[in-house]
Amino acid sequence: MGEWIHGRDEVLETPRILESAPVLERWKDRLLTWTRVFTDHQSRPPGLAVIRVGSDPASVIYVSRKKKMTETLGFFFEEHVLSSRITPRELSQKIASLNESHLIDGIILQLPLPGDHDPSPYLAMIDPVKDVDGLHPLNRGLLYSQNALGFVPCTPWGCLELLRHYGYTFEGKSAVVVGRSILVGRPLAALLIRENATVTLAHSHTKDLASVTSQADFLFVAAGQKLLIEPKHVKRGAVVLDIGIHRIDSGLVGDVDYAELIDSDVLRGGAISPVPGGVGPLTVLGLMHNTLLAAFQRCAISFPVS
Ligand code: NDP
Repeated sequence: MGEWIHGRDEVLETPRILESAPVLERWKDRLLTWTRVFTDHQSRPPGLAVIRVGSDPASVIYVSRKKKMTETLGFFFEEHVLSSRITPRELSQKIASLNESHLIDGIILQLPLPGDHDPSPYLAMIDPVKDVDGLHPLNRGLLYSQNALGFVPCTPWGCLELLRHYGYTFEGKSAVVVGRSILVGRPLAALLIRENATVTLAHSHTKDLASVTSQADFLFVAAGQKLLIEPKHVKRGAVVLDIGIHRIDSGLVGDVDYAELIDSDVLRGGAISPVPGGVGPLTVLGLMHNTLLAAFQRCAISFPVS
């Protein structure tokens, strides 16, 4: 799948760099068109509300990115910032009022909640038809069903969109996902099962991680561990998707040691997504897509394209 570089005496296959920029442009154009269609039809824009509890610095950045994209597309956007001392009853009431709001099509409870509070009861309170993060138990269950599909969590969806753009298919391929969070690892594994891949889900209790990951045709890494994946973890010619994001002094790095992998020859004929510029930006577009889908469904208008 890589590009062939013809040297004097040898033929080298360099790894393909899976940048998201071309996917972003096309996806954004489609979303802009659909937003116009919806707004003309309903005389109001699609509406997204984010509830942010406390002041986790990463959450502040993530929400500001979502807000910026809603401005680009022309959505109505509300951020509800709640004190970390809010009571369970007050948080429940906030969710209930957004469930009722006519102007709001999608609701996000920004995670994590302060103090590592379990978000499950609150995620289950979000109306499933407005659950654009795909974290309500109903939507999570549908992901594992044979045919029906609810809202798909945005990061795993972005991963598959990126790979599809570059022409990859998963039928009969071995895929290893490192990380089993409800936000990334688990839904990604479910999507890959739907795509007929043979899927292994690794986590912090997995013994000898390298022996597992080095079997993968497709290796997805969402462990939240800086530079965890080295050449010894990767099958020759594999496709590696780095979902991790870590800020260091010189910028951003992922869960994969990109420089080491590129320097080694393990990726010859394979591919890798960079950080930044890979999976990350697609997550926000996936969220906007889900919000539009929710808006069209709530107003019983057929969605232009699935
Ligand atoms: P979590 O911390 O919720 O989950 C991490 C998972 O990785 C857990 O299942 C954990 O196992 C597993 N894990 C941790 N250490 C190891 C290890 N050494 N070997 C194998 N498995 C391990 O993280 P998230 O899923 O929320 O996020 C993962 C990464 O992706 C983070 O860097 C985050 O910043 C990034 N991210 C990026 C997004 C994007 O838009 N690109 C969006 C969301 C997240 P166990 O279950 O046993 O604890």
